[in-house]
Amino acid sequence: MIRHHHRALALALLLTAPATAAAQDAMTVLNAAVKAMRLENVTTIRYTATGSAYAIGQSFTPGGPYPRSAMTFVRDFDIDGFTVRQEFVNTRVERRGGGLPNRVGAETRQVQYASRNSGWPQHVFMWLNPPGFVKEAMKHNPTLTTERVGGRAFRVITVRVQDRYTLRGFFNDEDLLERVDTALDNNPVLGDPPLDAVFTGYRDFGGILFPSRIVHHLGLQPSFDFEIASVTPNAAVETTPPAGAGGAAGGGAVTVTSQTIANGVHYLTGGTHHSVAVEFSDHVAVIDAPLGEARSLAVIAEVRRLAPNKPIRHLINTHHHFDHSNGLRTYAAEGATVVTHPRNAAFYQQWWSTMPVLLRDRLVESGRTARFETVDERRVLSDGMRTLEVHVVQDTTHVEGMLILYLPSEKLLVEADLFTPPAPGAAPAQNAPGNDPLAAELVQNIERLDLDVERVVPLHGPGVASRADLDRAAGTTAAGR
Ligand SMILES: [Zn+2]
Repeated sequence: MIRHHHRALALALLLTAPATAAAQDAMTVLNAAVKAMRLENVTTIRYTATGSAYAIGQSFTPGGPYPRSAMTFVRDFDIDGFTVRQEFVNTRVERRGGGLPNRVGAETRQVQYASRNSGWPQHVFMWLNPPGFVKEAMKHNPTLTTERVGGRAFRVITVRVQDRYTLRGFFNDEDLLERVDTALDNNPVLGDPPLDAVFTGYRDFGGILFPSRIVHHLGLQPSFDFEIASVTPNAAVETTPPAGAGGAAGGGAVTVTSQTIANGVHYLTGGTHHSVAVEFSDHVAVIDAPLGEARSLAVIAEVRRLAPNKPIRHLINTHHHFDHSNGLRTYAAEGATVVTHPRNAAFYQQWWSTMPVLLRDRLVESGRTARFETVDERRVLSDGMRTLEVHVVQDTTHVEGMLILYLPSEKLLVEADLFTPPAPGAAPAQNAPGNDPLAAELVQNIERLDLDVERVVPLHGPGVASRADLDRAAGTTAAGR
């Protein structure tokens, strides 16, 4: 009888063995890591670092490295409560590329905060350090597999978070976490961009083992790269959000204000980034799709109101920087053709060739494939009603493949990022008047192309500017004109 009972039990164990054993093995791996890193009694850490931060989506070349800033931070991480608060200082060191601060030497200070309730792009960063991954994975039904990477065998712990996001942690044969990978869901240009963190140079910091260098990659480019200066286990960390945090997560209402600046030419403002709609006899071309789908839908609705019977046939994308291209896919879903530089088109097509899983947007729902038309030097869109010239900017430090738009009958120039007039009474956004290098580059291009510009329509800033405003910023005050 006893024997029989044992056999039944053994059979039951055998039937349930794979899942149970894998879960136990996963916990064994995580417990071994806690022991190897001496984290048994560690509930908080404070660490400081110096290194580089990169302006994501602001590359000089589409698909190229993001512009670098020098960075330091002090980070308070409550491992058990799962909150992080950091004081972050960065200083722009590269001239080429976009992003703020745009000027070399300009310093930005921020206090940043995240908790389990934060959106994934913030929340995920708490998983991208070894104590955070190891201890939090234990609470998320970890599973274990093995994988060979670069000829070495790793035990891979996989967890699902919020039933949506997958994280994998790679443990080496010393029970140390060498790498975590996952993906983000907030980037329409890159779809579901891969995000990873690589941990090297483990050594003793204040009694625990911690990597001395951490590198993050987002969309296959470095996004952070830092050396750890100090680690204080069980520090009295700050766990409360900074004053004013929580409201800045992009949840604000989208407003679009339209102003008709010439017959059939509409300036669509109402936020930090603007668009321009240009009517042709039977269709409309829209210039720039900034910020994301919500903004695109609001701009499209306004264009429909202004020109009810004219479909949007073209979306002209000035350049690939994500703040100017995050709304492109919405227009593609509407059937508009994206007009851009060939390098930008290749970049978008490369990332959009994979159907995203995390990103759900109109283009995914439409089942359409985005269509592109490219301009490598100059192109004229014209019909009986309208002529719109598309030109490629040369010799700018901002970005490769930048388009500017010129309406010869109206003497209007539409441009992004090269000249942003200051708000009335405010300091110039980038540089002192007469010393704005991007504005000077724009003036050189206007002269090279022999464009007769009366008004400049900037895709940032307080409104339409005059040619004299541009010359004042550029320091090219119009002597001889
Ligand atoms: Zn830009």
